[in-house]
Amino acid sequence: MAELLDGKSIAKVLKEEIKSEVSVLKEQGIQPKLAVVLVGDDPASVVYAKSKQKVSESLNIEYELITLDSSCSESELLDLINKLNQDNEIHGIMIELPLPKHISKERVMSAVLPTKDVDGVHPINRGYILSGEDGLFPATPQSCIEILLRSGVEIAGKHVVIVGRGETVGKPLVFLILKHNATITICHSRTPDLGAFTRQADILIAAVGKAKLITSDMVKQGAVVVDAGINETSAGICGDVDFDSVQEKASYISPVPGGVGSLTTALIMRNVLKGISLQGGLTK
Ligand code: NAP
Repeated sequence: MAELLDGKSIAKVLKEEIKSEVSVLKEQGIQPKLAVVLVGDDPASVVYAKSKQKVSESLNIEYELITLDSSCSESELLDLINKLNQDNEIHGIMIELPLPKHISKERVMSAVLPTKDVDGVHPINRGYILSGEDGLFPATPQSCIEILLRSGVEIAGKHVVIVGRGETVGKPLVFLILKHNATITICHSRTPDLGAFTRQADILIAAVGKAKLITSDMVKQGAVVVDAGINETSAGICGDVDFDSVQEKASYISPVPGGVGSLTTALIMRNVLKGISLQGGLTK
C-alpha cells in the first residue's frame, strides 16, 4: 500500500516558512502585498479570489481585490495593470482567468511586470523556465516538485513520465523537473499506447484533466505517482489517477483533493516574496 504524498501537511509547513519570511520583511519595513484583478463575475474565479484572500491574510500578506465589470475595455484593464506595475506598495499581481472574449489574454499577461507576475505566465518568465534562469514560475508545476522533495522522494536520475503537455502544468513542469536532473518522457493525447510509456515511470505525473485516466495496469510496481488533475464528477472532485487501485501498486501517491492542489495558493504567496527579492527588495 502506497504512502500518501500529503499536500495538506506540507502546505502547513510551507505556510509557516512564508509567515516567518513575512515577519523578517516587515522588520525591514516591507509589507508584502498581492493585488488580484477580477474581470466580470465568473463563479469559479470569485471562489479562487476569495480563497487567495483568506490565505494571504493568514500569512500577513496584504491583499487587494480589484474588480472590473465584464464590459470593461482591454485598454482600461491594461491601464489598471500599468498602475499596479508602478505602485511600489504592490509586489505581486494576478489576473484571474478566464477573461471576457473581447480581451486578449496574451496582451494582458504580457503587460504585467515580470517581477510581479506571481502566476508565472509572462513570456519572460516562461523563457526563464527554458533557460534555467531564476524567475517567477507557475504554482502547480512547482507544487508537483515540492510535494516530491518534501516527502523525501529523490528526483535526480529517475525516469519521470509526465502525462499532459498543457501550458499551465505539463509544459512548464518538463523544464522545472529537468533542472532536478530527471530523465523525462512527455505523453499527450496523440501518444499511442499510453500505458507502454507510463509503465516505465519511476515517477509518474498526471496533468491531463480526465478523471481516473491512469489505472493500476498503467503503473509500475513501486512507482511514485503524482496527480495534478482536478476533475468534477457526479461523485465529487477526483484526479486523473484511479486512486483506489493505483495505491495498491505505487510506493507513494498524492490524493485529490489533499495533494498537489493543497500547495498551490501557498506557492503563489511564496512567489510574492520571491518577487520582492527579484524587485531588488526596493519596493515597500
Ligand atoms: P490542458 O492545457 O487542457 O492540457 C491537458 C493535456 O492533457 C494536453 O496536453 C492533452 O494532450 C493531454 N491529454 C488529454 N487527453 C489525454 C489522453 N487521453 N491521454 C494522454 N494525454 C491526454 O490542461 P492543464 O491546464 O495543463 O491542466 C491539467 C490538469 O491539471 C487539469 O485537470 C487541471 O484541472 C489541473 N490543474 C490543477 C491545478 C491544481 O492546482 N492542482 C492547477 C491547474 C490545473 P494534447 O496536448 O495532445 O491536447
